[in-house]
Amino acid sequence: MSKGYIHSFGDGRADGDAGLSRLLGGKGANLAEMTNLGIPVPPGFTISTEACIEYMKTGQRPDGLEQQVDEAIALLEQRTGMKFGDPNDPLLVSVRSGAAISMPGMMDTVLNLGLSRDTIAGHVARADDRFAWDCYRRLVQMYSDVVLDRDVEPMERLIDARKDAKGTTEDTDLTAEDWQALVDQFIEISKADGGQGFPDDPREQLWGSIEAVFASWNNDRAISYRRMERIPDDLGTAVNVQAMVFGNMGDDCATGVAFTRDPASGEKVFFGEWLRNAQGEDVVAGTRTPQPLKTAVGGDASLESSMPEAFAKLNEVQARLEKHYQDMQDIEFTIQRGELYLLQTRSGKRTGVAAVRCAVEMVEEGLIDQATGLKRVNADALEQLLKPVFKTEALKSAESAGSRLAHGLNAGPGAATGRVALSADRAVEMSADGPVLLVRIETSPEDIDGMKKAEGILTARGGATSHAALVARQMGKPCVAGCDALDISYDNGTIKVGDITLREGDFVSLDGTTGWVYQGEIGTEPSEVYRVIVDGTLGEDESVIYPYFAKLMSWADEHRRLGVRTNSDTPEQAAAAVKLGAQGIGLTRTEHMFFEEDRILAFRKMIVAEDETARRAALGELLPMQRADFAGIFEAMGERPVTIRLLDPPLHEFLPHEKEPQEALAKQLGFTLEQVQDLVAKLSESNPMLGHRGCRLAISYPEICEMQTRAILEAACDVVGGGGQAVPEIMVPLISEAKELVTLRTLIDATAEKVFEEKGRRVDYLVGTMIEIPRAALMSKLIAETAQFFSFGTNDLTQMAFGLSRDDTAPLLDFYVEGGHLPADPFQTIDQDGVGRLVETSAREGREGNPTLKLGICGEHGGDGESVKFFHRAGLDYVSCSPPRLPTARLAAAQAALEDDATT
Ligand code: PEP
Ligand code: MG
Repeated sequence: MSKGYIHSFGDGRADGDAGLSRLLGGKGANLAEMTNLGIPVPPGFTISTEACIEYMKTGQRPDGLEQQVDEAIALLEQRTGMKFGDPNDPLLVSVRSGAAISMPGMMDTVLNLGLSRDTIAGHVARADDRFAWDCYRRLVQMYSDVVLDRDVEPMERLIDARKDAKGTTEDTDLTAEDWQALVDQFIEISKADGGQGFPDDPREQLWGSIEAVFASWNNDRAISYRRMERIPDDLGTAVNVQAMVFGNMGDDCATGVAFTRDPASGEKVFFGEWLRNAQGEDVVAGTRTPQPLKTAVGGDASLESSMPEAFAKLNEVQARLEKHYQDMQDIEFTIQRGELYLLQTRSGKRTGVAAVRCAVEMVEEGLIDQATGLKRVNADALEQLLKPVFKTEALKSAESAGSRLAHGLNAGPGAATGRVALSADRAVEMSADGPVLLVRIETSPEDIDGMKKAEGILTARGGATSHAALVARQMGKPCVAGCDALDISYDNGTIKVGDITLREGDFVSLDGTTGWVYQGEIGTEPSEVYRVIVDGTLGEDESVIYPYFAKLMSWADEHRRLGVRTNSDTPEQAAAAVKLGAQGIGLTRTEHMFFEEDRILAFRKMIVAEDETARRAALGELLPMQRADFAGIFEAMGERPVTIRLLDPPLHEFLPHEKEPQEALAKQLGFTLEQVQDLVAKLSESNPMLGHRGCRLAISYPEICEMQTRAILEAACDVVGGGGQAVPEIMVPLISEAKELVTLRTLIDATAEKVFEEKGRRVDYLVGTMIEIPRAALMSKLIAETAQFFSFGTNDLTQMAFGLSRDDTAPLLDFYVEGGHLPADPFQTIDQDGVGRLVETSAREGREGNPTLKLGICGEHGGDGESVKFFHRAGLDYVSCSPPRLPTARLAAAQAALEDDATT
C-alpha cells in the first residue's frame, strides 16, 4: 500500500493540528489547527513534507500521490459544492508552499488555479467579467513565472502600456476587455522560446504547480535563506491546496495582513494593513501601498471604519489566536463579500525591541511563564537594542539644511547611512568600499544577498508587512518601506524626489524608527538602551524599551549559571561593560595599548633594541604607561576579576610597512631608511600567525613578560593601597607545550615576589593560559598542573583546527557555507563537532590535572548565542565577549540553563 500523504481540512474538521508542523509545514499545521478551533478557514488539503522529500529523491511524483490528490479534490468539491474544471461553477484553488520553519516569500505560490477557456464563463457569472478576467491574467502571469520560469517583465510592461494609454496609474482603471486582451498576449508570451506555454487544462495546472512548489524548496533564494537561518536542507516543504476566496470580487471584498502586536515596537496593539478589492499578494508584494486596520491611526481609510463588522470579527479572531498560541501572531485574511476568512496564522517575526517587549508583557499578563518568556527572545537579536541612532547634532544640522528627502513606513528600527546601491548585486560590490544602502522600488526575495550586505534598506513601495520590511526586521537592518515620493529609475541609475536627483553612489541616510529619509551622510551614535545604560545621557524613565530590557536581563541573570565577562582594553570600555552586566574581564589585549601615538615609539625602540640592556631601557619607558592603563581598568572593575594577557602579536605588526612612515621612523630613531627596512624584512615571517608570537615572545624576551607582570602587579598594589580593589589574572597566550608555561610561571611568580617586597603589600593573583593551539587542548592535563585557569582562544583554535586563516578566508567561507560544505562560518559560531570537541576534551582533562581549574572562553564565539549555549553544556565557568554582545551572552546562558533543566 502506498503511503498517505494528504491531510484534509474543512467543515470544522481537520486531519491534523499545530503539533504536526514537521509533516504539514507551519502553514498547513496551523490551517488544520484553526479549522479545529472553528475559525473560518477556506477548506483544502495539505500534501505532507514527506511527499516533497520523496520527490526530491526521485524527481517523480511519489507512488499513490496522484490518486490521493484526486480523492482530496473530490472531498474538497463536496465541501465547497463546486467542481474543479466545471464550466458552470468552477472550483478554483491556490497552491502554496509551507515549510516546518517559516521561510517568508522564499518558495512558490500559484493562485486562481482552475481557470481556463472552458471555465472562465462560470467564473464571470459569479461576480463580474472584469474581476474574472483579472483573476485569469493573474493565473497566467504567476504560472508563467513560477512554473514555466518565464521572464514576466514583458507582461508587466504590457499592463503599464495599457494604463499609459488610458492616462492612469491604477490597475483598477483597466476594464474586462483590457484584461481579456492581456490574457491572450500573456499566453503568447508564456510560449517563449517555443516552450510549452500556459496549460489550459486545470488538472495540468494543478500538477504543474504542485511540482513547482516541491522544486522551489531548492531554488537559490530558499537555499540562501536556509543558510542564513541555519534551517536544515532535508526538511522539505508541504504543499497547501486550498479553495480560493476572493478579496478582489468588488468593493465589499478586501485582503490584509495583521499582527496581534506591533512587530516593530512590540506594543500591545492590534496592528496591520489592508487593501480593498485586492488579492493577498498585492499586500505582501508591496505593489500597492495598503491602509492601516485601526481607526486610531488610519482615520477613514481604516478597515475599522470602512468595514466595521468584518473588522470586529477579525479583532475577535486575532485575540483568540494570540491567546491560543500564547504568542504574537502574524495573520493573513481575506474578506469576500463581507465574510471573513483566515488564510494563515503563524508566530510573527519581530524586531529585537519588539521581541523583548512582547516577552516581558506576555509574562506580566500571565499569558506565558518566565522561562517561556526568556526562551522566546532570540539572544542574538538583543544586539539590535544597542544599535545606533543618528547623532543629535548631525541630525539637527541635516534637518536645518533641509535635507529631509521623504517619509516612508518605519519598517525596521535603527539609523543607517551609506551610498545608494540600486540593485542587490551593486550593493554586494559596493559594500567592499564602505557602507551602502540598498534602495529599490520594492524588494523581492532575490535581493537577499544585497540586503545582507547593506547597512539599511529603502523601498519606494510596500507596507510594513512587505518582504523588505519582514526580512529587514529579521536581519536587524534599519528599513524604511513604502516611501512613494521616490521615483527610482534603474535604467538611468537615478532617484528623483521632486526636483532633486540622486545617483547611485550618492550618500543617503535613513531612520527606520521614524521613517524619515535624508539626503547626505548623517553620523550615527548609540541607541536608547545604550544611552540609558552605558553613557547615562538618557534617564531610565525617558526610554520606552529600557524597563522591559532591564526586566528581561534580571530574569536571565536569575536563571543562568554561566558567568559572563567582557573583552575590554580600556577603563572606558570596562566601565561600559560593567553596566551591560559584565562580571569581570575575560581578556585585555595589552598590545592594543601600544598603538597609541605616544607609545608606539617607545614600543618600536624596544623592538629595534640590539641587546637586553637597550631593550630593558625601552621597556622602562613603557612600564609607567602600562601601569597606569592597568590601574584604570582595575579601578573600573573593582572587586571583579580582570584577566590581562601578556603580549601576543608578532612584532612586525608594530613596524611601518610603507616607505613614508618608514622614513619618519628612521628619523625618530636616528637610523637610515635601509636600516629600518632591513629590520622589517628580518622580522617578517611567511606565516606570522604561526610564528614568533604569543608566549614565544616572552620565552625569547623574558624581560617583556617581566615588565608586563610588574606593570600589572604594581598597578594592583597601588589601587589596593589607595583603598580600591584589584583582582588580577595574568594570562599567557598561545602555549603549545606545558614547559612554556612552567618557565613563564616561574618568571611571573618571581617578579611578583619582587614587586610585593618593594610595595610592602601582597595582592592575590592567578596565572593561567589561553588554550588556542590544538596541541595545547590535547595536553591539557599536564598544562593544568601549572595553570590556575584556562581561557579558550577560539579564534586561533578555530584557525588552527581548520587550517584556515582567520584573516583572509571570508570569501572562501561564504562559498563553503553557501555550498553546504559547512553549516555556518566557524569563526562566528563554534564548530561543535571539531573545535568544540577540542574544548570539551581540554576542559575535562584540564580538570583532571587541576580540580580547581577555572575555565573560560574569550574568542569571538563568547558573544554568539548558539556558541554560548554550547560552552554552558561543555561545563565552562564563563564566557567573555565584547561589551555590546553582553546582553546576548547573558540571555543565551539563561536559555542554556533552562534547556538543561527541561531535559533533566
Ligand atoms: C583567540 O584567539 O580566540 C583570542 C581571543 O585571541 P586573539 O583574537 O587576540 O588572537
Ligand atoms: Mg588568539
